[in-house]
Amino acid sequence: MTEPPIDRETLAARLDHLEAETRAYLEDSAASEQAVELDQTRQGRLSRMDAMQSQAMNQAARGRARQQLSRIAATRKRLDSADFGICPDCDEPIPAARLRHDPTALRCLDCTAARE
Ligand SMILES: [Zn+2]
Repeated sequence: MTEPPIDRETLAARLDHLEAETRAYLEDSAASEQAVELDQTRQGRLSRMDAMQSQAMNQAARGRARQQLSRIAATRKRLDSADFGICPDCDEPIPAARLRHDPTALRCLDCTAARE
């Protein structure tokens, strides 16, 4: 049941795609964050609370997107090292399917679950 290791070109392409997507999201959501602030003077208390709530969610999502960007950058640095794709906790190869799904995955599923 040994899967062939995922090739690095495929992974690098996935990282490019992921990074472009994440940057586009950060640009789009920056605009909507400003829109909420500009609208606030025209809103009643309830809709202002709604706006603040969606702004908080927006900020949390933007924070996750920024973390994603630094994970992508860190993954690019690891990509050329000999132990890329090896789980640092159990020294087993990270399954290719997992890396295809999330190229920034640092550990195998078991070790990730064990840490959560
Ligand atoms: Zn592991």
